Amino acid sequence: MIGPRRVKLTAKQEREAYDIVTARDGGMCQRCGLYGPVDRDHRQNRDPYNTVPSNLQCLGSDFGCGCHRFKTEHPGLALLEGLTVPRWARPELWPAYRFGVGWVLYDDDGGWQTINQATADLLMNGGET
Ligand SMILES: [Zn+2]
Repeated sequence: MIGPRRVKLTAKQEREAYDIVTARDGGMCQRCGLYGPVDRDHRQNRDPYNTVPSNLQCLGSDFGCGCHRFKTEHPGLALLEGLTVPRWARPELWPAYRFGVGWVLYDDDGGWQTINQATADLLMNGGET
């Protein structure tokens, strides 16, 4: 893979990322909008480098709406719904679908930029903005 060199994150950096996402998503499942027990899900499968806010989202746990399990059990639908980042993509450049907002690009500071459907389609089909 050609791209910026990635640095393995410390436990402290990972904790800070989880805290940022808890604050950003406010305990709301980003798939269905339900408030309740949520997991902080890695949009792209976890590795030593990607526990960063742009790669995390709150999804309902098995004690809540269960959307985290839905994502795990339906990878194809999860990708179409904007819940998953492919292995080869960069999370900050891969659209997420945020309940009540629509398509967004998450940053690593706890914010996001809204994008329209056409831009989301372009990014997910290998284009660049
Ligand atoms: Zn849910």
